[in-house]
Amino acid sequence: MKEIRKCPKCRIYTFREICPRCNNKTNRAIPPKFSPEDPWGKYRRKMKRKLLEKKGWL
Ligand SMILES: [Zn+2]
Repeated sequence: MKEIRKCPKCRIYTFREICPRCNNKTNRAIPPKFSPEDPWGKYRRKMKRKLLEKKGWL
């Protein structure tokens, strides 16, 4: 199965490892599949981590 990739520079999706537009290496793009019960979980965890780092707990 081909996996979709994304150019971080042009922000375009492609199946190639090299962006056809700028020849930059593309990254694996996770399809935007959000968990229905916690769509912001990842974001929230990130924020929490930031908060802990701020407090010097990490
Ligand atoms: Zn590109």
